[in-house]
Amino acid sequence: MSDCQSLGDCEDARIERLYEYLDGALSHKDLVEIKEHLDGCPECAQEHDLECVIRSVVKRSCTEAAPETLKASILSRISQIQTADH
Ligand SMILES: [Zn+2]
Repeated sequence: MSDCQSLGDCEDARIERLYEYLDGALSHKDLVEIKEHLDGCPECAQEHDLECVIRSVVKRSCTEAAPETLKASILSRISQIQTADH
């Protein structure tokens, strides 16, 4: 059952639930509902894919050790801010 196709596009609430879905914050019943919706709705599926890509990139950049040059530039930025405060 896909009401979104008859509406032309999806409710914002559904997109919001998509984020909850990705966060694993939904109940099993809602999970199934969203999964079914994604199967029938290319628009939401695309949104889901995009969000997945963003999340995996963010995750990777968090787990990978920061390059030394990045670390150095962050540290110098921090000391700059600290110097400016005094
Ligand atoms: Zn949809």
